[in-house]
Amino acid sequence: MKILVVGGAGYIGSHMVKQLALSNNEVITLDNLSCGYKDAVKYGELVIGDLGDNNVLNQLFNQHKFDAVMHFAAFIEVGESVINPGKYYHNNVCNTQVLLDAMVKYDIKHFIFSSTAAIFGEPQYTPINEAHPQNPINPYGRTKLMVEHMLEDYDTAYGLKSTCLRYFNAAGADPDGELGERHNPESHLVPLILQAASGRRADIKIFGQDYPTEDGTCVRDYVHINDLCEAHSLALAKMQKTGSSARYNLGNGKGFSVQQVIDTSKKVSGKDFNVVITDRRAGDPAVLVADSTLARDELNWSPKFDQLETIIETAWQWEMNFFAQ
Ligand code: UDP
Repeated sequence: MKILVVGGAGYIGSHMVKQLALSNNEVITLDNLSCGYKDAVKYGELVIGDLGDNNVLNQLFNQHKFDAVMHFAAFIEVGESVINPGKYYHNNVCNTQVLLDAMVKYDIKHFIFSSTAAIFGEPQYTPINEAHPQNPINPYGRTKLMVEHMLEDYDTAYGLKSTCLRYFNAAGADPDGELGERHNPESHLVPLILQAASGRRADIKIFGQDYPTEDGTCVRDYVHINDLCEAHSLALAKMQKTGSSARYNLGNGKGFSVQQVIDTSKKVSGKDFNVVITDRRAGDPAVLVADSTLARDELNWSPKFDQLETIIETAWQWEMNFFAQ
């Protein structure tokens, strides 16, 4: 197949590009490099451009007949989305609409969308399945939900089939050590902890130790990046076979507390580092765990890197290889 990966120079996108290329697909990345890195695109062609730029899209779609588009090119900082919502609505919603309209124009029928657990907002129950009420509590979550709604309407009206994959906490790195997580600024727990372990950061701060959880720290569902990517490939194959749109929650179904992630990281890295307890971060629910039964049943998805140790080992290898250079 020929697949356009929008945002293929970012964390999840670059792993997806590799997995698709190694499964004998022809992959082209479109990325404006606002958050991604040129050297993260190890496979296929990289087109530097914006998904909201019609000229770039016309050129691409005239030149190539894509079987599908996968879209990873969104801003993802919850805090920033509160302070600067315009940036989020513009890129995550408006630019995505430009891409979808181009797909309709060029009759490309299959779209895989990176969605998020943030569309659900404060959990009403846990683990969270697809039936959970959708009530995002920040602009980031709202932009993702808006696109999900847009996709329903584009299916009804234009026959554009989509699968929305709601990630819980993507973590880990390419087991080959070729790719990894490189956000700037970094806000995610696992890379921040490993920066403390490698000495690139003075400490790791725990945002709140007074949550109603076993050890008082927040519980999240960490799912390995390769398992997430695998779900995209399975979702695309299923959508092409059934001709139906779908939505799936993706997580391991197992929650780990911030403290457990820190303890496991110390064990895996063999390093001790400073841990500082600070105030809660605004908008953090105590527990966010996915019920991925639907993805397991319908896609036959079965996460292979489901041990926290393995997830952290791959991320630690990346931290050591890449940042020690
Ligand atoms: N967290 C923390 N210290 C940090 C970064 C994150 O204690 O420096 C906590 C955060 O409050 C949340 C969990 O780690 O409970 C995962 O946060 P992350 O930002 O990685 O992902 P999120 O769950 O917000 O998508």
